[in-house]
Amino acid sequence: ERVYGVSSWGGGYFEIGENGNIHVIPEPRMNDVRIDMKAVIDEIREENIQFPVVVRFHDVLRSQVITLNETFREIISEASYQGKYRGVYPIKVNQMREVVEEIVDAGQPYDYGLEAGSKPELLAVLAMNTNLNALTILNGYKDEEFLKLALLGRKLGRKVVVVIEKFSELTMLIKVSKQLDIAPIIGLRAKMQSKGQGRWQGSSGERAKFGLNVSEIIKAARLLEKEGMSDTLKLLHFHIGSQLPEIRAIKDAVNESARIYAELVKMGFALEYVDVGGGLGIDYDGSKSTADSSRNYSVREYVADVVYGMREVCDLEGVPHPNIVTESGRAITAHHSCVITEVVGEIKPDGAQIDTAAGEDDHILLKNMRDLADHLSGELNFQEVYNDATQYKEQASDAFKLRVIGLEELGKIETLYWQIMRKVKHFYRNADFVPEEVQSLDFSLSSQYLCNFSIFQSAVDSWAIDQILPVVPITNLHTPPVNDGSLVDITCDSDGKIDKFVIEHAIDHVLPMPAFSKDEPFYLGLFLTGAYQDVMGDMHNLFGRLNEVHIFSYDDDPQDFYIEEFVKGSSVEHVLSVMQYHPSSMAIDIKKYIDKEVAAGNIKPREGVKWTDFYEHCLAGYTYLNTES
Ligand code: PLP
Repeated sequence: ERVYGVSSWGGGYFEIGENGNIHVIPEPRMNDVRIDMKAVIDEIREENIQFPVVVRFHDVLRSQVITLNETFREIISEASYQGKYRGVYPIKVNQMREVVEEIVDAGQPYDYGLEAGSKPELLAVLAMNTNLNALTILNGYKDEEFLKLALLGRKLGRKVVVVIEKFSELTMLIKVSKQLDIAPIIGLRAKMQSKGQGRWQGSSGERAKFGLNVSEIIKAARLLEKEGMSDTLKLLHFHIGSQLPEIRAIKDAVNESARIYAELVKMGFALEYVDVGGGLGIDYDGSKSTADSSRNYSVREYVADVVYGMREVCDLEGVPHPNIVTESGRAITAHHSCVITEVVGEIKPDGAQIDTAAGEDDHILLKNMRDLADHLSGELNFQEVYNDATQYKEQASDAFKLRVIGLEELGKIETLYWQIMRKVKHFYRNADFVPEEVQSLDFSLSSQYLCNFSIFQSAVDSWAIDQILPVVPITNLHTPPVNDGSLVDITCDSDGKIDKFVIEHAIDHVLPMPAFSKDEPFYLGLFLTGAYQDVMGDMHNLFGRLNEVHIFSYDDDPQDFYIEEFVKGSSVEHVLSVMQYHPSSMAIDIKKYIDKEVAAGNIKPREGVKWTDFYEHCLAGYTYLNTES
């Protein structure tokens, strides 16, 4: 537990059980329920579902929706706040239908709504968000069709709020709504001066991509007044960035938005909602700090700062407390899914040792390296040995390029070098001071574990923005780690690796690995992948979407679980057809070529049939490595 910090980043949903396996606590409010991830893996294998697999815990998703809504209810009541909480889930964070359905269902008692940021998302949201009391918030740039769809929502009796991101959208909306004679509900997005911190701080300030500055807000309000539509302006919106690490930024922004809201109310506009956007962070690295992958506040503190911050300004200004809207996406979905991948190989820097016995004509570089290896003892200065061996190795590489030594000699020098480095590492283990370059041996001597997945599909932020995601072996955690390693994926891309892990509450380049048998599959979990990672990945190398299992616990026996749904990942045919190939005609072509070889007597007819079937079988198969065959 101390090594992997599970309780620090797990949000109460994960722990290491006494049997050394990762356990999921699907509903922390009922703290006695545990699902053993090993049992989930066994069930997946029994069902013959191929790895890698995305495992979704629907109870975790429900629990996050309930926690956010209940926390707002509690704080609103504690603060005697007069407005209500009317949260929405922005589906861009994870648009999977089953995810959105679960969120809508869990949010029903709270009139929890949905947010869409594009036309396709709006089409989905119109079909999903049928609760007439829940909000549908529309962000993002809009065309006339988008606005007409919003008005269709109004016709269906829904509370659809069109948030104006740029001024011309307002003139277009006024025109379309008058043409169709449907009253819109309008929100204005403010360009905030309060800066968010972290990776997405560009979402606020003068150069923000979305929103109206103060003069545009005034102009918009006046235009609505002139058009006789003052009563349609109901909401003020801001969003200062996702994954806000600092609570101060949120407090500042709430304060600024409350001032704008109050001024608009005093101008005569009866606004009903202030929408504080997304940004509620996730403590991916468990440090509870202002690091980009963390947050220095709890959900409760966030909610309290929003509610009390809004109340304070409104009371000072003498205006009604507005209903509060949040658009938290990451905080709702991050914990509920993880990617389970199998270790399919180990790449060791010194994997192949060749015979280094002395020969008669050995080159001086080889002799020197062998002398160094033969005379290593605890008393030696390990830094000196490190320097000498590194220099000989570099010289050997030059000598090889200059045709002074051959491949065999270079191989012996390499073998001796790694033997020496292992011993150096052993010596410095107890030293008081170890220079940085010698310490780097920890990394260079560590293994690279080859895992059956693609970072670009399943953990794209770890590649694109250095996002830290917790990675933990699923089993054998009751024994001390015996090895260290980083992870590499199966794409043909050197960037396809993970070499930043949260270990002992600090960032390390290697993941401690417990002992495991090479004859049994060994699984690692990439956790907190439910927000963005699940849906933003791409098909680099044509590795497609993953097989998914949706896990529920039984109502009458919550200790037990079942796979409610298996969603098949992309087949090879599918990813090829996305790239404009025609898999069925490819299969016909290959059959023709095979038949030709059969006719020429190069392939026996029976073999020809088998090869044809095999090609078709692979086309229909999973895009990842098949470790069962
Ligand atoms: N609302 C808007 C307008 C956004 O742009 C985003 C994402 O950046 C969100 C909500 C969701 O933010 P988060 O996932 O940080 O809650």
